[in-house]
Amino acid sequence: MVKRLAVLGATGSIGQSTLDLVAHHPERFTVTVLTAHRQVEPMVALCERFAPKMVVMSDPAAAHALRQRLSAVTWASGITVADGPSALSESVGRDDVDLVVAGIVGAAGLSAAITAAYAGKTILLANKEALVMAGVLMVNAAKAGGATVLPIDSEHNAIFQCLGENYRCFARPAGVTRILLTASGGPFRTWEKDRIDAATVHEAIHHPNWSMGRKISVDSATMMNKGLELIEAHWLFAMPEGDIDVVIHPQSVVHSMVEFEDGSTLAQMGAPDMRTPIACAMSWPQRIETPVQRLDWKAARKLDFEPPDHARFPSLELARASLRSGGTASAVMNAANEIAVDAFLNERLRFGQIFQVVEHTLERLTGKASAVPDSLESLLSVDDEARRTAQHYCEQLAA
Ligand code: NAD
Ligand code: MG
Repeated sequence: MVKRLAVLGATGSIGQSTLDLVAHHPERFTVTVLTAHRQVEPMVALCERFAPKMVVMSDPAAAHALRQRLSAVTWASGITVADGPSALSESVGRDDVDLVVAGIVGAAGLSAAITAAYAGKTILLANKEALVMAGVLMVNAAKAGGATVLPIDSEHNAIFQCLGENYRCFARPAGVTRILLTASGGPFRTWEKDRIDAATVHEAIHHPNWSMGRKISVDSATMMNKGLELIEAHWLFAMPEGDIDVVIHPQSVVHSMVEFEDGSTLAQMGAPDMRTPIACAMSWPQRIETPVQRLDWKAARKLDFEPPDHARFPSLELARASLRSGGTASAVMNAANEIAVDAFLNERLRFGQIFQVVEHTLERLTGKASAVPDSLESLLSVDDEARRTAQHYCEQLAA
């Protein structure tokens, strides 16, 4: 059976990797929905190549420009262009969508992920911020709608592969004692604290092993990415943070490990290329061929493992503390991080100040963040307050 995809964030790094696999296997996959924020010309090219039925641009001006571009060509007559957040959510609930690839970066992807969960879709989740912000709402929505979430974040996909038939999303797998999330350590792994503090945007977004969008690249440099992934693993595999360890593994060959009660530890390995975890989830429970480079075992190879350094990279401890606080603390942390990373990328904040903004916002809002969110609206109001607090502090630091 041909699987019909909605690719959210189609113009981004995850979107591109997904569409590359669709092009590689036209007999297995078709595209029903493509979405992006405001990249009109890249979207025109994707429309011509993949002939979706519906395109959503979250920015209305970009949607207007896209409609004009598509009205000038005959091949686009079957494509509907919609705009705004509600269109984004509607697009994932369509009957002619089987798989939803959640590849939007940040909080902007949350509503569509929740709608897809209520609609009972199979969700290929890259947008970790959705789970970090609203783990409990995602779990409830998936249970109510009968949705399946398959992780494509490489670490979580590695764990998913190690679990095999034991995987049930949002349930603790039988016989598992520990999850070991591997982390490359990012571009500043070996740097002194002062040098990290003054790192430039160019230095922060050049990851040693992975090619990714700008926000997640900065998150990898602060190691907040691993903090977000710890929270993502907590929800996906229903494991307490104390049973999830982080191991620095600079080569990015082992993508994560699972320790079982009999003493076995299983690891998943591969080249650092997102097309492997995405293909694994797209074709699950089967496997499909990909053009990904194979590991060369004829060459001498070393795999190193070391513990993380919390003094230089406080993000992991902040993430653990937010999980222990419960309620909306992780959402507060995520919102503050999004604001701080954006300020850093726009050169309004020093790299080291990203940690300060997150810490400050968590301290200010911890008391208010203790209640478990009962609705998307209550969560978004906490998110909004955290963003305003973080923004205000960024301005103070920049003054
Ligand atoms: P990216 O910046 O390359 O792409 C982001 C996509 O989201 C783009 O298509 C953009 O148009 C869309 N978008 C941005 N803001 C939006 C908004 N306000 N409303 C609607 N759409 C919006 O990002 P990416 O690297 O592909 O990452 C996407 C998600 O996947 C992130 O949550 C990231 O943490 C996760 N992820 C990425 C990788 C990777 O290798 N890139 C690996 C693991 C997880
Ligand atoms: Mg990852």
